[in-house]
Amino acid sequence: MRECNVNRNLKRCNCSYEPCSRKGICCECIAYHRSNGELPACYFPEDVERTYDRSIARFISLYKG
Ligand code: SF4
Repeated sequence: MRECNVNRNLKRCNCSYEPCSRKGICCECIAYHRSNGELPACYFPEDVERTYDRSIARFISLYKG
């Protein structure tokens, strides 16, 4: 079984929510946000990421023409 690349994932993780236990464990991160109708931090630019609004509606609003 392949090892999780937690340390490599953490190097490119932009999530500013420090207490999260899912940081660097991308499979848990996406499953958690998906179950809440959201996307993970890495789908959002820095300024939006910091608002912690990870809703799909917010994501779509970023790219609407
Ligand atoms: S995006 Fe969400 S689940 Fe992923 S590390 Fe940040 S707070 Fe945790």
